[in-house]
Amino acid sequence: MRKITIDCGMCGERVALEHGKEAMFETGPNAYHLMDLCPSCLDDQLRAAESVNDTSGYRQKAAALLRMPDGSAPSVAAGE
Ligand SMILES: [Zn+2]
Repeated sequence: MRKITIDCGMCGERVALEHGKEAMFETGPNAYHLMDLCPSCLDDQLRAAESVNDTSGYRQKAAALLRMPDGSAPSVAAGE
């Protein structure tokens, strides 16, 4: 079977599709910023989020819908 991998949208780490998670960051009333995250980046974002809703059915088994306190999506860490 073909192994599918994704690159984490934040740290760039390549992880197996089943270990990645689609995170939807709520950036406005009907606006979302989608990112594929590896488990550790997802954990960081979940901790920072103001609210989290797990929504089922989007690409992966479940996507996390996150709203950050300032209504922004995380920016990719450069040069870390
Ligand atoms: Zn990552």
